Amino acid sequence: METIIQKRESLGEKLRILSDAAKYDVACTSSGVDRQGSRKGMGNCLASGICHSFSADGRCISLLKILMTNECVFDCKYCLNRVSNDIERATFTPEEICRLTMEFYRRNFIEGLFLSSGVKGSPDETMEQMIKAVWLLRNKYGFQGYIHLKAIPGASQELISQAGFLADRMSINLEFPTAEGLKKLAPHKSRTTILKPMKAIQLRAQENKRELTLYRHSPRFVPAGQSTQMIVGATGESDYEILSVAESLYQKFSLKRVFYSAFVAVNPDRDLPALPQGPPLLREHRLYQADWLLRFYEFKASELLTPGQPNFNVLIDPKCNWALNHLEEFPVEINTADYHTLLRVPGIGTKSAWRIIGARRYGGLDFEHLKKIGVVLKRALYFITCNGKMLYSTPMEADYILRNILDPRDWKDHQGRDFHQMSFWELGGAGRF
Ligand code: SF4
Repeated sequence: METIIQKRESLGEKLRILSDAAKYDVACTSSGVDRQGSRKGMGNCLASGICHSFSADGRCISLLKILMTNECVFDCKYCLNRVSNDIERATFTPEEICRLTMEFYRRNFIEGLFLSSGVKGSPDETMEQMIKAVWLLRNKYGFQGYIHLKAIPGASQELISQAGFLADRMSINLEFPTAEGLKKLAPHKSRTTILKPMKAIQLRAQENKRELTLYRHSPRFVPAGQSTQMIVGATGESDYEILSVAESLYQKFSLKRVFYSAFVAVNPDRDLPALPQGPPLLREHRLYQADWLLRFYEFKASELLTPGQPNFNVLIDPKCNWALNHLEEFPVEINTADYHTLLRVPGIGTKSAWRIIGARRYGGLDFEHLKKIGVVLKRALYFITCNGKMLYSTPMEADYILRNILDPRDWKDHQGRDFHQMSFWELGGAGRF
């Protein structure tokens, strides 16, 4: 059967333009919502998240990730779609978005939709069209898969509230950690037009939780929560400023995720940095690791960095960076330290910390045990003792440890045993560091 893409070439063209235009938005992971498909509709959602794929430049492009339109009345200096750029423009109708989503879903290409948009006309007009698309998707096409919807800065609270009952997750991009950065590079946006809808989503979600305790079958409002994105490296903010803002967003707006997007120079503009080395991807990666420490390792932004030391050493992960700046806290005795202390040791993740606590009930642990438990000894060995002894005698000097952590040729103990660099798969994923 002829597909809609073959039948209507202009739709394929629009897809090319509007999926390409969406690639710089990284806030597109999906997780935290469980919904079984019913016989009436199509699709389901799993809390474990939808499979992600990555574009050539490493960005997550899971889901059908598109803009409704790349027309925009705003002129954000960092954005390809800004009004002052002379680029190919296109706009999907709500019906076209539905048909594309269903077509890709049936072919098993996607498990959900990520829908963002430029501002066409006004924020409210744009938001109305986006709501129409997801309303049709849910109600006419019976789509029950995951939908991540961007809130348009400046859209009314009423529209945001309607959108939240149709989407699994909503997000509104903070763009920059400071109001000055926003004013300089996104003059049509303001902190108020961004934080107000963010607050509205948070409050409505809290109210919805209360409704659900009273009426179990009430419709759910953004069940996968809300997220935001900050651009890294376009303005002069330090890692400390970025991380402090992220921490405050988690606390004050109950965000599920803050995404960090390394600035990509797509427009020549004297207000933008040149970045001859390309986007600061390693810095972005370190911020993600630090964000992980805030959310799962009980660190505070002010512990990881300070105004006097405002940026991470990009050569090492943020936990190692913290440990090297706090050598007075080490070495930690594996056989007696509590869970929270173990969590602070480089090379010990949440799982291995629990495994250490569990295994200690059956006797003392040595380094071989730790290796089997999954502790990354190449990092941990400088910071721990087992029964009062280090793996081998090392000075507690930051420079020495840093040099050794960075130089794999020195990862041997005195007996020549090689604690090789573990691969990503041995580590069990990026979450452990
Ligand atoms: S609002 Fe700004 S960032 Fe969003 S599409 Fe328009 S110009 Fe780009």
